[in-house]
Amino acid sequence: VWNHPRWWVERLQHDHPEHWPQILRANNQPGPMVLRVNRRRGTRDAYRERLLAEGLVSQPLGEDGLVLATPQPVDRLPGFADGLSSVQDGAAQCAAPLLLSGRAWAPGARVLDACAAPGSKTAHLLEHADLDLLALDVDPERCRRIDDTLRRLGLRAEVRTADAGDPGAWWDGRPFDGILLDAPCTAAGIVRRHPDIRWLRRPGDVAQLAAVQRRLLDTLWPLLRPGGRLVYCTCSVFRAEGAEQVAAFLSRHNDARVVPS
Ligand code: SAM
Repeated sequence: VWNHPRWWVERLQHDHPEHWPQILRANNQPGPMVLRVNRRRGTRDAYRERLLAEGLVSQPLGEDGLVLATPQPVDRLPGFADGLSSVQDGAAQCAAPLLLSGRAWAPGARVLDACAAPGSKTAHLLEHADLDLLALDVDPERCRRIDDTLRRLGLRAEVRTADAGDPGAWWDGRPFDGILLDAPCTAAGIVRRHPDIRWLRRPGDVAQLAAVQRRLLDTLWPLLRPGGRLVYCTCSVFRAEGAEQVAAFLSRHNDARVVPS
């Protein structure tokens, strides 16, 4: 009926007793194509007009997003190669505003994007503020994609191939004002983008990836200056990689508190 492994259905039933059928149904639908307008290169309204001039209808989403009525190859999008817009799902577009909202970010504020490749959220952060941003990823091939993303959008960051869990290898000792930890996860929340992920994962992956996230959280927390902000996000809907991880983190760190969103 659901076209998901039994363990996956049971975990969703446990984690989301009210919403699991909607989640499974949504996983079996194609997702819409969502754009993020580069606010350094023009307004969302102006870009929406440019799309319309090409016959492409769209609806606003969040602060910078446009949902296309019909998905398109990116070379059909006006100014895509020149960095006017990017493709990024609506939920992923929440991360940068969560880190930056509600406080002033002086030019040169130091931000760490700890698991950055291919750089979508790095770019979104830099579209919003003039940050001194260090983007890390453990995978050298994927780090090259961060460089490509930044070049296309006309943005700058320091990009390094490194293990975020080993700051001794890359940290200069100066605390960060903000940290984005977009951690490796099961990807259980983006099944419609990766339809085979449900069959590739094994039940034990959830605890194993949650342990990796826990290690990264505990390692990076001391690198944040007092009063700084850390956003932990994953693309999973399993609570072990979300709310439960946050609750356990708060119980280990009495110098942390949740910022109401
Ligand atoms: N933030 C990215 C974006 O918005 O485009 C997506 C990041 S993806 C969810 C997770 C990334 O974490 C992968 O690129 C993976 O290579 C990287 N990664 C996994 N373990 C890591 C580690 N120990 N240190 C740094 N990066 C790591």
